[in-house]
Formats: sequence, structure tokens, C-alpha cells
Amino acid sequence: MLKDGKLLNFIGGMWKEAQTSTYLKVYDPATAEALAEVPLSSAQDVDAAAQAARLAWPAWRRTPPTDRVQYLFKLKSLLEQHLDEIAQLITRECGKTLAEAKGELQRGIENIEVATGIPSLMMGYNVEDIARGIDEHLFRQPVGVVAAITPFNFPGMIPLWFLPYALACGNCFVLKPSEKVPLTMNRVFDLIEQLGLPAGVVNLVNGAKETVDAILDHPVIRAISFVGSSPVARYVYSRAAANGKRAQCQGGAKNTVVVLPDADMEMTTRIVADSSFGCSGQRCLATSVAITVGDARKPFTERIAEAAHTRKVGYGLDPAVEMGPVITSESKQRIESLIQSGVQEGAKPLVDGRNAAIPGYENGYFVRPTILDEVNPEGNLARTEIFGPVLSLLHVKTVDEAIRLVNESSYGNMACLFTSSGAAARKFRYEAQAGNIGINIGVAAPMAFFPFSGWKDSFFGDMHAQGRDAIEFYTEKKVVVERWPKEWSRTF
Ligand code: NAD
Repeated sequence: MLKDGKLLNFIGGMWKEAQTSTYLKVYDPATAEALAEVPLSSAQDVDAAAQAARLAWPAWRRTPPTDRVQYLFKLKSLLEQHLDEIAQLITRECGKTLAEAKGELQRGIENIEVATGIPSLMMGYNVEDIARGIDEHLFRQPVGVVAAITPFNFPGMIPLWFLPYALACGNCFVLKPSEKVPLTMNRVFDLIEQLGLPAGVVNLVNGAKETVDAILDHPVIRAISFVGSSPVARYVYSRAAANGKRAQCQGGAKNTVVVLPDADMEMTTRIVADSSFGCSGQRCLATSVAITVGDARKPFTERIAEAAHTRKVGYGLDPAVEMGPVITSESKQRIESLIQSGVQEGAKPLVDGRNAAIPGYENGYFVRPTILDEVNPEGNLARTEIFGPVLSLLHVKTVDEAIRLVNESSYGNMACLFTSSGAAARKFRYEAQAGNIGINIGVAAPMAFFPFSGWKDSFFGDMHAQGRDAIEFYTEKKVVVERWPKEWSRTF
């Protein structure tokens, strides 16, 4: 909810003004128009949310899981009813196309669907007679009050990687969305308010670093889920751990696809172009580097350059548009200076998307698709997450060389191979050091019932988001060893 253009927090079942005088503007990145102001909530706001969640927890954890998931069925239905409207909001504050916005919301809803299976998914296990007359049981119990801190690039989906599982497992939840895109969750919480959940079970606190620090230091909050850039993920993980909290922190990426000469070049190019330029390259599963092996070089390079040239860039609400702007003017500057550093390191700009001027959207933060050829594998560009529509090309002679380059990255979010050879595919799947692998797939995003894996500097923690890992993360395991001596039994 907004009051005089300023976003409110949702704490203890009520919309409340943040206890701060500091606000940031939220912009439409296609027009640079200010859409609203977001508060940088204080430690008092975080405390109010954590205390509301703490008070709600005893009753919520006693609510049968079959009853808890009824709220999620309702949430799924409300999100589906309002899908178009929320997707438009995502496009307006985040810049991606409407089709991409609808897609991300759909992927978020799939997590609600999986979490509605909690009565089965939360089951423990047991063994009778671990010793004569003694039985042992494992129960899963909720952790308590948990929090999630999310990034700008999927304002609808990423909070839904956490909220449904946290609630279904019997936890109370505090969300801190990205200050760059707070409007989507503000609207989703309008719908959450209609669910009739007990006050304090879910809370929304807007803000940035100070708000995050207050969450990390709050003694009531027991577990932290984070998604964002690697330096912040590492920081959040360390500070949460130092405070004795459970943490799962997903970081940045530098994803590589390898193209073998026997790949279907038409299909490969189409898929890689979508992976590199979809969401303006602002996906943690975007392809940032393509390595061609042997004779794949010429056909792939020619086709991908053509795909970059012809991609239609503009305002995401225009149905003909295939790629929107990047998130901020700082981001545009950063991407353009990384392109420049790549060129200085010897790369050839086959398609140069800098200085984009989009008619009617001259103030927007647009970078057109960019292809840099013969990028120096040792250089800064090849190692840095760009998070924009920029694809670097490298060319090698063998699959082994390509896999070595994939594995030299400090990141390990995703690696993909394009081939028609089963043996090459198996070798790649076996040897590539990344948590999400695609074989003839460009965005290897796990479905909600699989964990969103990620290795090396792309992830800090052990239990990932989604699927069974989410249930592990949001529950404590309690083992009960039980003896009932015969002599205590009455005979009936
Ligand atoms: P970010 O790290 O700047 O911000 C993420 C969250 O952390 C935001 O809520 C922000 O308010 C907070 N934050 C920012 N700086 C902070 C600081 N110094 N201390 C404490 N909190 C801070 O990330 P972003 O720019 O919003 O998102 C893009 C990044 O997220 C990219 O690196 C991308 O690869 C990554 N990402 C990763 C995944 C994944 O699954 N691994 C998914 C989506 C995005």
C-alpha cells in the first residue's frame, strides 16, 4: 500500500509507515519516470516485524499443515487472477518485457504449488525396536522466525522461492525486497492481506543495507535466505553465521555455454540469444560467455551476431519488444565501461550496443545487445559478472579446453553444452563445475521441485532454495527415542 506516493511496510497484519525520514525514488527504467518512494526502514521497523512474527509463531506452528496450506491455495488463486496486472507492475519497475514478467510470476506460483504438498513433504521417519522395546522417530519442526532478502531482477519470483515453504513449514516470515523494485511485493502483500492469515505470520519491511544489517543482527530471526550479488551474499552469510543463524545465500554468476560443431546451429543460436539477451542479460542464469569448439566458430559467430543485431529493443509493455532496458543509469554506465575494458583488453566488438537511443524513450537506461569476439580469457571482462546484454565469444579446439575454461571461473551457477553427441554431453555433465547444467538448454532453471543449485562463489551455504532443500532449510530435525516399559501398561 502507498500513502502520498510513499510505500508502507506490512507489519503485524497492518500497513505502517516506516520509522525513518530517508526515502529513495523508484524509477521506471524505460522512461526514468519516478513511480514511488521507498523507505529505508530502520532497526526499529525490523524489530517491530520480528516481534510481530515472534508473537504469531506459537499459534501458527500449532496450526495443522493441512490448514496452513489452505492459505497458499488461496494465494495461488489470487495471484493467477491478478497475473496480468502484477506482470505489468514488474515490467514498469524492472524493465523486462511483459511476457518475461508473466513467465517469472508463473515460476513463482509453481513454488506455491510445491509448498502445498507440505503435509507429505514435511514427514519425518522412524524405526521400531532400535533396541528391544525402544522406538526412534524423526520429526520436522519449524525453525521459528525467518527472513528473506531479495534482488531486483525477479521482483515477483524470487520472494516466492521462500515465502510459501517458510509458511507451509510453520515459520513466520519477514521479507525485505530490493529497494529498486519494491512495488511488486507491495501489491502482492495487498493480496496476502486478503488471505486472512493471522497477524504477524508474514511481514514486509522495505529498505536497503541498514535494514539488512538489522535483520542479520536481530536475535529473534533464526534463518536468513538471501539472493543477490556475490560480495553481498558472502557478507550476509558471514554476518548471519557470526550471529548463529542458519543462512542460504545465492550469489552472482558468469555463465558459459559451449557450442560443439555437431550442434543444431539454428536452434543453438536462437536459444543462446534468448539466454544472453532475455531480461536484458539481467538473469543469474544468463549466458555471458559462449565458447565455440573447432568448426562451430564460423556458423555460430555469424548467426549470433545477426540475432544480436535484429533483437527488438524498447519498452517492455510494447508486445513487439523483445528486450527492455537495464535497471538503473548506474548499471548502464557500468555495463558500457565493462564493454570498453573488454575492447581495451583486445576483444573485437562485433555488435556494439553502447549509446543506444530508443525513439520515444530517450531517457531510458537502454543498452542494446552486444557481442564481443576473441575476448581475452585471462582479462577482466571474461571474469566479471556484467549483468547486461553482453555476450563474450571465445574459440578453442577441443571440448577439454572448453571445460577447463568453464571450470576456471570463480562462479559456478550454470554451464550449458550444445551438441548432438551423447558422449560429449555425458562428459560435460560429469566434469563441468556448476550447480545447474543445461544440455541443449540455454537457461537451465530448475523447476520448483528441484533445488536451485549453484556452486563456488555463486552460493554460500549448503541447503539451496526450492524443492526438498527448502524443507530442510525451514525445519529443525527432532529425534525422539522412546521407551514404554511393559509393566507401566494397563491390560485391557
Ligand atoms: P545486490 O547484491 O545489490 O542486492 C541484493 C539485496 O541485498 C537487496 O535486497 C539489497 O537491498 C541488499 N543489499 C545490497 N547491498 C547490500 C549491502 N552492502 N549490505 C547488505 N545488504 C545489501 O543484488 P542486485 O543488484 O539486486 O541483484 C543482482 C545480483 O543478484 C546479480 O549478481 C545476480 O547474479 C544475482 N542473482 C543471483 C541469483 C541466484 O539464484 N544465484 C538469482 C537472481 C539474482
